[in-house]
Formats: sequence, C-alpha cells, structure tokens
Amino acid sequence: MINFKNTYTQLPDHFYQKVKPAKFESPSLIAFNKELALELGIHFEKYTDLEIANIFSGQKILEGSDPIAMAYAGFQFGHPNPQLGDGRAHLLGEVNGFDVQLKGSGQTRFSRQGDGRSALGPVIREYLVSEAMHALEVPTTRALCAVSTGEMVHRQFGPEPGGVFTRVASSHIRVGTFQYFFFQNDLKSLEQLLNYTINRHYPEFNELSLKDKSLSLIKALIKKQSELIAKWYSIGFIHGVMNTDNFSVAGITIDYGPCAFMDEFKFNKVFSSIDHRGRYSYSNQTTIAQWNILRLADCLLPFIDQSLPKAAKIVEDEISDLMNLFSLKSMQLLARKIGIDDYTDQDELLIQNFIQYLEEQTIDFTLAFRNLPKLFNNDSSFYPASTKLDSFVDQWRKRVKSIDHLDKINPLYIPRNHQVEKAIQEAYQNDFSHFHKLHQVLKTPYTEQEKASGFELPPTKDNRVYQTFCGT
Ligand code: AMP
Ligand code: MG
Repeated sequence: MINFKNTYTQLPDHFYQKVKPAKFESPSLIAFNKELALELGIHFEKYTDLEIANIFSGQKILEGSDPIAMAYAGFQFGHPNPQLGDGRAHLLGEVNGFDVQLKGSGQTRFSRQGDGRSALGPVIREYLVSEAMHALEVPTTRALCAVSTGEMVHRQFGPEPGGVFTRVASSHIRVGTFQYFFFQNDLKSLEQLLNYTINRHYPEFNELSLKDKSLSLIKALIKKQSELIAKWYSIGFIHGVMNTDNFSVAGITIDYGPCAFMDEFKFNKVFSSIDHRGRYSYSNQTTIAQWNILRLADCLLPFIDQSLPKAAKIVEDEISDLMNLFSLKSMQLLARKIGIDDYTDQDELLIQNFIQYLEEQTIDFTLAFRNLPKLFNNDSSFYPASTKLDSFVDQWRKRVKSIDHLDKINPLYIPRNHQVEKAIQEAYQNDFSHFHKLHQVLKTPYTEQEKASGFELPPTKDNRVYQTFCGT
C-alpha cells in the first residue's frame, strides 16, 4: 500500500503535463531502500521484487497516483532557457508530504530532442551518492529504488543498458520553476507558485503579505543554501551543474549529474566534462549559489514594489548582510573539522593555512582531516613535512582543546569516484555486488568498518577518474 496524494496537480494545468511513464520490456529490481520506505510509511511487504520493479519503473500505476511532468525553465551555465521541465521524469505523487519521482521513465512534453530515458550509470551514481550524502548529514533528495529496464539506450559512447531511478524529495520546486513563469511574464502563476512554495516549505510565512512572503522566502533560502553549500565544502563535494533548474528552493541537494567528491584538495577543482570555464568549480559554489538566489529575487521583484529599481534596492538592503552567511557557515564547518567549535574571524588564517598546505602538497582532503587526531598526538606520518605544517600544528595546538570527537565530524568513507565508477562498470556487466557493498559501507561513513578495508583509500594511478559526464 502506498498512499499517494498530489498537491501539485491542484495548481493550474500549465504548471505540469499529466503524462504516463513509458512501457518497458522487462523491468527488474536492482535496489529498494526499505529504510526510506518505512520512513515514508510505504508498506512494501506484500509486494514481490517484480511488483516493486513494476511500480518504480512506472509499469503499474497505483491508486491515487496521477503522474505528471513538471514545467520549469532555468539559466544553464548562465544562459537563460525558458523551456526545460521534466523531460525524462514523472512525479508519481506525494507520500507523507514527500515527492516520489521516477527518473528515466520516458518522454514528456518537455523532452525536446531527448529520449526520456536514463542509462544505468547515472541511476547507480545517483543512488550511491545521494544516499551517501544523507549519511553525511547533508540535506538531499533520497534514493528509493533503482530498476533496470531491460532495454538499451543510445548515448555518446554507444548503446548502454537503461534504468529508472526513483527519488524522494521534500519537493522538486527549483529556482527554475519560478523562472518558467517569470520568462513568460505570468505574474498570476508566479503568485500561485510562491504561495504553494511558502505553504509547503515555509508555512511560518503563510500569513504574510505578498511582499513579505517574497522577502522572507529569499532570506530563508539564503540561510538554507548557505548551510547546504558549507556542508558541500566540508566534505569536498562538487555538484558540477548548479544551473538554476538544479537549485532547490527548499535548500536540498538536487540533481546528481556530473557531481564528484575531491580526492586530493584543489580549490578550483572541476570534474564535469562540460564545465570548460570552471563556473561550477568547488571554489565557485558559494558565488553561484548567491547568483542563483538573486535570480529567484528577479522573479519576485514585482511583488516587492511596483517600481522594479525600488524593489531591487529593498532586496539589496535586506540581504546584503545576510549573504555573509555563505562564507561564515563554510568557515564554521571547516573550523569544526579541525576541532574549533567556537569559530571567530581570527581562526580564518589557521584554517586557510591548513587548506593551502593540503593544496601545495596535493594531499587527500578526506584523509587529511580524518588523520588529524594522530597529528595532534604527535604522529605526523600521514603528512608530508613542511614548514607550513609545522607552523599550523604550533598554532593549532594552542587554539584547540579537544580533538576526541573529531571522528564523528570527519568521515572516513566518502563515495570516491573510482569506487562509484567500479560499481557502474560492473552494473553494466549485470553484476551489482560492488554497488551493494559500496552502498553498505557508505551508510556509516564515520565508523571504521572491518569489512571495508580499502574503501577509504584514494585512487591509484590506474583507477583515477579525471572527468565526470552528465551522461543522462
Ligand atoms: P539535467 O541534466 O538533469 O539538469 O537536465 C536538463 C534538462 O534536460 C531537463 O529539462 C531534463 O529533463 C532534460 N533532459 C536530460 N536528459 C534527458 C533525456 N534523456 N530525455 C529528455 N530530456 C532530458
Ligand atoms: Mg536537472
């Protein structure tokens, strides 16, 4: 039994397209997230694996589910695109307030030239990485199910097995959803979307005027996104394609395309094969998040004042201080990683020194923090010697009282690219054992696991991943 509702379909018809998922020859189950299903109140016990595969590839539509593809627009790499939307996704409905959406489930009105399908690789990647992010306490969409469709899809490097991924999200409303109506100058729909968003994500603003709702939403999003991006920084995560259509108004990580975790630290690191100018590099994520929030503000200006320049000035006055949260939150989390829980501006230099040392010596980001307790206790074997390190340790010892709790803050296991890649390559040979193993390890990233030896290690020369692809 799954109790589907759909509040989004109560919005006007042009917010979405009602459309059924495609038919697939022989869906089979790869993984079903029972823990998440239980959290959602999904009673799956009576379903066989095949039934689950049929439900979560859109072959069997359950009562109460009314699949839709959502309309949205977006700025892609800084360029406006007024027509995007779910071109390969179907929102089955809401369960317990959360969206349950299929990805790779067939064409919709928004497919443009695309086939509406997904290859298995991105399904495996999103399952592993989004669940790892959740275990690392990062707000994110979740993975409910992965299904193999039994069909081939045609991609850049030839035919690949197809899959459908089911993700769960507090919603799929993006900055790009607002832009869809903004680009059409459709104020009425913008107002409806604003009210819907406030009611769903920020009900505490329900009673405010339209002007105050708009300002409150922008400010709330600055708070949420600054916390989110700080978490990304703290674990070396690079989203890779922070277009406004991949930027959630609920402040969760959404759309795991060419995302990747850094191995050795490099401030300007880029993995995505299409990010030629490093717009979405590790270091640029703060700037881009701020830019994206300003694009949301553009959409809401008419509700703030009839005169747009006046409205822009009001927004600027309200948010200019708040935007500092982006650097503050990031520094606070990095400080926590070295054992400083009461960060002040004076600690910035200490943190910068350590980070610069990591970059100069090309040291693994995750392990550099994980090994700090050893360094504190005079075992510097992990760290290449340098005067920078010596001076950091000197200052650090004076500043930090206790490092006993650091293993609960600095993970040992992250979804390293070469491990994810191995899971994908084996999945293409119909072998899901590495996928399951890796998923298991990443569930408890802070605890050293006897059976996970090697999973903490950076890649070797032979299995290093240099680039990631959107690879839809
Ligand atoms: P994304 O890479 O997820 O940010 O997608 C950007 C846009 O391209 C969205 O509108 C997607 O729905 C659309 N899209 C990506 N892959 C496909 C596909 N295989 N078929 C149809 N639309 C797609
Ligand atoms: Mg997207």
